[in-house]
Amino acid sequence: MTTESTHYDTVIVGGGPAGIAAAMHLAFHHRKVLIVDRKTSPMQFANTPIHNYPGIKPLEASVDILQKLRKELRGFKVKTLFGNVLRIEGKVPNFQLHIKTSKPTPTTLTAKTIILATGISRKHPKVDGDWKKWLPYAAKDHMSYYCPDCDSPITKGKDIIIVNAGSANSALHVARSIKPYAKRIRIFMTEDGYAPFTKEFETILSQSGFEWTQGLIREVKIHAPGQRQQLLTTDGRTLECNAFFVAWIGVPRSELAIPMGIEVDERQSIITDQRGATNIEGIWAAGDVRPITQSIATAVGTGVYAAIIITHYLMNLD
Ligand SMILES: Cc1cc2nc3c(=O)[nH]c(=O)nc-3n(C[C@H](O)[C@H](O)[C@H](O)COP(=O)(O)OP(=O)(O)OC[C@H]3O[C@@H](n4cnc5c(N)ncnc54)[C@H](O)[C@@H]3O)c2cc1C
Repeated sequence: MTTESTHYDTVIVGGGPAGIAAAMHLAFHHRKVLIVDRKTSPMQFANTPIHNYPGIKPLEASVDILQKLRKELRGFKVKTLFGNVLRIEGKVPNFQLHIKTSKPTPTTLTAKTIILATGISRKHPKVDGDWKKWLPYAAKDHMSYYCPDCDSPITKGKDIIIVNAGSANSALHVARSIKPYAKRIRIFMTEDGYAPFTKEFETILSQSGFEWTQGLIREVKIHAPGQRQQLLTTDGRTLECNAFFVAWIGVPRSELAIPMGIEVDERQSIITDQRGATNIEGIWAAGDVRPITQSIATAVGTGVYAAIIITHYLMNLD
């Protein structure tokens, strides 16, 4: 095992918008800061136009924004170590982070304070029994939407099929969010989703007033925007719409936090105070891993807020 000599003021686990924003603030205040990231932010992949984030050009894609943030970060001379933090031990001001990188042996780093900005993972609908087969359609501009908060108004006048990977309530949350805008809404409940399809779901959906059906997806055919998109079921049906809206399940990435005794809620989101401090002294959390709406603006905001508080905290430790 190799141990780097550098003792960081703050190590940030997660290089999405929350982690990067926090790092910039700390570096601006001359703090020795490092990001460790395993590169699974949705902004690493999503080529969809971004909504709900002030100051960006309309239709700018999330991948471009992440590139810009990383470039800006290099201006602050903050290093990013690409790797997977396996576990964290110790206590303030001497945490040890065990990290798997491309090197054969794990690396151990030490830090006075830590920010967990690890985001959430999303469970997708399965196509032909495999969730990875949904990925090519997951972020298709104006053919497959993802986020009720970011995308609902752009379903205006469209015929939408909600493809649901979770409970009846997750589908209805999307349906109610797009109801003021969409021309037609149908819910497709996948029978191999992540919540077992129950009689209770049937009752909830039947009483909801929304059109719905259930089944297994055999294939998805995405055509150019403006054309009809097609969902083919294993029982031979072809359902057509202008665009899909995915009702996914989000699982907060709190697997590092829980063994350390950090409090999480019933969804496993990390509980913090208003400023992002967890119940373990010296550890803050920011972004989607907290029980907040998943958006870039809140990720950046909570990242910066935590970094401001840590900057003051470190002054007292020095
Ligand atoms: C298709 C799609 C479209 C979206 N569109 C919009 C939009 O239009 N507007 C908007 O505001 N939001 C949008 N979002 C949501 C937005 O992308 C997220 O809210 C935002 O990325 C959250 O930032 P974050 O920094 O909290 O987490 P993330 O961006 O998820 O970053 C977390 C990072 O932590 C890393 N990580 C996790 N665990 C470890 C570990 N153990 N070791 C090392 N690294 C680790 C991950 O690899 C990841 O890179 C969209 C999301 C998706 C999926």
